[in-house]
Amino acid sequence: MGRVITITSGKGGVGKTTSTANLATALTSLGHRVVCIDTDIGLRNLDLIMGLEDHVVYNVVDVIEERATIAQALIRHKTLPDLFLLPASQSRDKSAIDELQMMILCNKLKNDFDFVLIDSPAGIEHGFRVSLAPADQVVIVTTPEVAALRDADRVVGILDRKDQLARCLVINRYREKMVRQGKMLTPSEVLEILSCQLIGIIPEDEEVINAAYDGRLVVQNQRSPAGREFFKTARRLLGEEIPFQKADTPTSLVDRLFGR
Ligand code: ADP
Ligand code: MG
Repeated sequence: MGRVITITSGKGGVGKTTSTANLATALTSLGHRVVCIDTDIGLRNLDLIMGLEDHVVYNVVDVIEERATIAQALIRHKTLPDLFLLPASQSRDKSAIDELQMMILCNKLKNDFDFVLIDSPAGIEHGFRVSLAPADQVVIVTTPEVAALRDADRVVGILDRKDQLARCLVINRYREKMVRQGKMLTPSEVLEILSCQLIGIIPEDEEVINAAYDGRLVVQNQRSPAGREFFKTARRLLGEEIPFQKADTPTSLVDRLFGR
């Protein structure tokens, strides 16, 4: 049986879709069979990031509403034969799928795939709950900024009510220089606010944007710092113990920002 991992954040624009595509690609290149589901209904994005936008015929809502079979709607990645995408619908709204339908869909996919990665929409409303319903594990993505952390903290609060659910954290768009200047939170300060298992610190890297521009993924480029860190993050997701580089500095921004 496969494992369902939901990638979520609360706040938009912090790197959920980027993380989903890169982690899925890394897991595939580590020998696993992976499907990504874009649950950002109405704001389809993952197909673009994966370079598959020209191949979209059916979408996840078509599958749920039985206009297409899973096999018809799945898009195989162009160069990685064990990586698939189930795209979001562009025209429907977020209420087009409910939690039970999503659980049934994922149960079917779990028979065929080692990993089902769900790219969650922003917010903590209906679409978020739907993306969370089938999860065996949750990856929370945040940037080390106060607004993103506050939203991530709300997500953690919601997850606290669902015990059993393993949750881990990816800190994205990390800028070491700003941390050294005391202008950005260190990973341990982030972890003081969000008690999760840290599995990745992804640096700010313009190669992420360059890659997305032409449908490549940064994780396939081992010369890119973000690419290398996404790869390590995927290996930690598989349970490997890979030490973090020393990224913390003794700033105390957290005291000021959160009144501790
Ligand atoms: P979300 O899915 O949470 O809304 P996205 O994955 O779409 O966020 O990312 C938002 C924007 O940030 C995109 O333009 C993406 O290319 C950019 N981005 C994400 N991670 C990084 C990074 N580590 N370095 C530079 N740009 C990034
Ligand atoms: Mg997104």
